Amino acid sequence: MSFTASLFAQDIVSIYFLDVRQGDSSIIITPDGKVVMIDSGPNESLILRYLQNLGISQIDLLIATHAHADHITGMDKIIAKYTPKAFIDPGISHTTATYQRMITAIYKYNINYYEGISRKIKLGSLTLTILPPTNPLIRDSELNNNSVVVRLDFKDFSCLFTGDIEKEREGQLLTDSRSNLNVDILKVAHHGSSSSSSPQFIKLVGPEIAVICCGQSNKYGHPHQETISLLQGLGIEIYQTDLSGTILVKTDGMDYQIFTEKESNRAPPVLKTETKTTETQEYKYAASRKSEVFHYINCFYVARIKPGNLILFKTREGAIASARRPCRKCKP
Ligand SMILES: [Zn+2]
Ligand SMILES: [Zn+2]
Repeated sequence: MSFTASLFAQDIVSIYFLDVRQGDSSIIITPDGKVVMIDSGPNESLILRYLQNLGISQIDLLIATHAHADHITGMDKIIAKYTPKAFIDPGISHTTATYQRMITAIYKYNINYYEGISRKIKLGSLTLTILPPTNPLIRDSELNNNSVVVRLDFKDFSCLFTGDIEKEREGQLLTDSRSNLNVDILKVAHHGSSSSSSPQFIKLVGPEIAVICCGQSNKYGHPHQETISLLQGLGIEIYQTDLSGTILVKTDGMDYQIFTEKESNRAPPVLKTETKTTETQEYKYAASRKSEVFHYINCFYVARIKPGNLILFKTREGAIASARRPCRKCKP
């Protein structure tokens, strides 16, 4: 699969790895507009804003990989607002209020509930395969290890979502789901923790791209250096939400492209009205850190953004991946 080839086809699948700080939330949009959401991250108002700004009006399948708060906060509100057509979780209860609210909402809104056991889900030309834990469930680090693991296939493209599984479950998968593990893109397990991502597992999955969802300077030290070194040593390209913001993958099932909210970790170049630096010219879109709107870089409003608040984007997709909407004046 080539990384740079352009995408001309109409049938595009979009996968957003949302920057929800220290937590996980991914949204998959199929060519016919079906929406799958895997986890909701740790912040209710943030995830509700993402859903609204991405123009999501319905959710076809909602998956809670496991009951930890950094994956299911705000699920009750999402269920109430979008009444998903189906819901999947590992079927392992937890004592927290966040978990109880989620389950209460599932019953209250009469949502079709499925336990995360072996099944294939067809959404048009896209297939989701749930790779279940072996019975009996792993007792050690029970919630993380029993995360719902999902493989996505769209024509020749594939992606693996691993929740917070740790090495024990990876070992099970190596035995029980061996033929289903090799993919193009891996959502690295447990925010890049060294308690996950064994060399054997990563080698068999063999992704071109590894996505790590974690928060800036989080208290767990995620991603751990051990994981980063392993991925780098195998020549796997790494994208991290703490560094790049929201990561958007677009695929036509043959090629894929990756767009990131923050195009660069360098400080944004200072804008000058007359002589723009070559670096500035690479950027076509701009926004203020404090606003939900993005503009063409030459829009009247951009000049008014304080330099410290200025964010620049090379692509329109990058701006949209930051959950901002186009300016009504410059219509980017
Ligand atoms: Zn987690
Ligand atoms: Zn967890």
